[in-house]
Amino acid sequence: MSLGSDLGPKPPLGYTASTLQRAAERRSDAQYLAALEADRAARAYAIGGERVVLKKTAGGLDPLFTPGEARALARSTETVFLGLVEGLGRFGVGLDSAATEALKARHDLHISDLRSIAIQGLTDADHLAAIAEAKALLHWHARHRFCANCGEATYVVQGGWRRDCPACRAEHFPRTDPVVIMLAVSGDRCLLGRQSRFAPGMWSCLAGFLEPGESIEQAVRRETQEEAGILCGRISYFASQPWPFPMSLMIGCHAEALSSEITVDYSELEDARWFARDEVASMLMRRHPLGLTTPPPVAIAHHIIRAWIECHGPAPA
Ligand SMILES: [Zn+2]
Repeated sequence: MSLGSDLGPKPPLGYTASTLQRAAERRSDAQYLAALEADRAARAYAIGGERVVLKKTAGGLDPLFTPGEARALARSTETVFLGLVEGLGRFGVGLDSAATEALKARHDLHISDLRSIAIQGLTDADHLAAIAEAKALLHWHARHRFCANCGEATYVVQGGWRRDCPACRAEHFPRTDPVVIMLAVSGDRCLLGRQSRFAPGMWSCLAGFLEPGESIEQAVRRETQEEAGILCGRISYFASQPWPFPMSLMIGCHAEALSSEITVDYSELEDARWFARDEVASMLMRRHPLGLTTPPPVAIAHHIIRAWIECHGPAPA
């Protein structure tokens, strides 16, 4: 039996399976959006910074409120149009962070964060991508209330997908910060690193922000060299994942390592080292004798590592 088949069914990649139709072509129609929002069947996610508000119901935790209910929870900021679900409007309502934290005192609510919701399966998985979209967009609003060109307060248009400046007429669009995340591979071993903020025993792919003027391939090579001193040659794209912490896109790659001597950048990493394929497989399956692990399936690192194990066939005996 190949090692690949030992890994069991492939889990879904977190935050990617959106059931929303973004209906971007309707964002400029303010009357249409107002009618959608006023519809009694419209629903909204209530988000205060990193906190997501969930309603306790007999059937479990429900992340959906009417837009009015969501705004009544605490002092609210922007309401953004996320898209349509079966023709009905789905919105994100921003709440004041401190006031959201204070909602923990309410017995009818459960206050959590998106990572915990995803990892612990607190809601139906259908909500994860939509909450990720709302959280990233609302974070952008919270940090971009003033014109970057002239400093004037800006206002929301396009259902939350643009902020305009009344003074200089500049249009500001929500940003997404691309991050490369890669597994450097040399034959039967791969390079994993640890950051001090990781859970004890967890090792993962190296990662870093893409810089202006840089290709994905160049960023993968630069980051791997900077963080671990390893030179890389061929780069292959694997998959991408929205990562709303706070508003990134993870671009997953495999990289061919051309050197083997590691020099760790301790300002970025606690450690980095080579791992044999069978050891990584045991970490992925949570069967490592010393309890070492890789990230959970909600993170793209899990899938990048798994794909490398699977495409290399049976492990040595
Ligand atoms: Zn301006």
